[in-house]
Amino acid sequence: MGTIFTQIVEGEIPARIVYEDETTVAFLDANPLAPGHTLVIPKEEYERLNDVPDDVATELYATIHRLVPAVEEAVDADASTVAFNNGEEAGQEVPHVHCHIVPRFEGDGGGPIHGIAGEAPDIADDELDDIADEIESRS
Ligand code: 5GP
Repeated sequence: MGTIFTQIVEGEIPARIVYEDETTVAFLDANPLAPGHTLVIPKEEYERLNDVPDDVATELYATIHRLVPAVEEAVDADASTVAFNNGEEAGQEVPHVHCHIVPRFEGDGGGPIHGIAGEAPDIADDELDDIADEIESRS
């Protein structure tokens, strides 16, 4: 049995699909955080961004790039928060990569993405240099 999102791709369960191409599909979130809350997924099932092949990642971003203005305009939003919960510890519940496009409105009471951190750590300059080197060497 595939993920709930694979079942949407296969047409086994209904969804309000707003865009579809060969590689990706976008549909309204069933429990929207705002009107127009949309999910963009690759049709193939990959659990995390880290698992997505380069060509699919390119297509996925192209769909996100296309959908962000479409979603904002459709609900007359002032802005949007665009994010992935990438892995269970980051809050990912459905193990099938999905990008949230959440329309935002002036005074909606929501916060910035910085709100994900419990308490921001105090990291020394030396450690920041080491971390930057570690990331750069893997990029
Ligand atoms: P996550 O926490 O994994 O980043 O987000 C999963 C999202 O999928 C949630 O916002 C949830 O409302 C949405 N979702 C879960 N099941 C369904 C479903 O069957 N249909 C649709 N359209 N959205 C779903």
